[in-house]
Amino acid sequence: MNYATIKPRDIANGPGVRVSLFVSGCTHRCPGCFNEEAWDFNFGQPFTQEVIDKILEDLSPSFIKGLTLLGGEPFDPRNQSAIVELLRQIKAKYPEKSIWAFSGYLFDRDILPGKLGDPAITREYLSYLDVLVDGPFIEAKKNLSLRFRGSENQRLIDVPASLKAGEVILWQDWQGEKRGLK
Ligand code: SF4
Repeated sequence: MNYATIKPRDIANGPGVRVSLFVSGCTHRCPGCFNEEAWDFNFGQPFTQEVIDKILEDLSPSFIKGLTLLGGEPFDPRNQSAIVELLRQIKAKYPEKSIWAFSGYLFDRDILPGKLGDPAITREYLSYLDVLVDGPFIEAKKNLSLRFRGSENQRLIDVPASLKAGEVILWQDWQGEKRGLK
């Protein structure tokens, strides 16, 4: 996997101050995409253990609430195993930090294990996620007043609750407060 950018301090893509990783490669090609250069899977730099170490260091201050994955497409089958390795190391070191991801795929239609890539990898990936913002950016549904999403079709999904319930459960702020995710 390649990655485009790491933002060591990001307040726009999830609750609190977060580290954001923008991975390379996306096949959705949404008109009006905010990050067209990252459609190319070869864009940016190789994602190495040194990069993981840098992210672990960026996450260390207590005021950093967690990591957000963006793209590109963090759920493209070509990107999943490298991200799982990153999340495995983050959760081993910082179990209390939250993980958010943005995807152009739909959680229930495309992402659940067995739909995209290796089911075991996807299952482990989802086990580390707190919130998934899913669905492509649709320009006709763009709404600048939405929190943490660009268009009205996109959903903020509480991943642990959804996996437990077997249906999509939307993330609510009060849940984040209860679990210390804000
Ligand atoms: S899913 Fe995201 S990165 Fe991919 S084309 Fe759509 S807006 Fe751009």
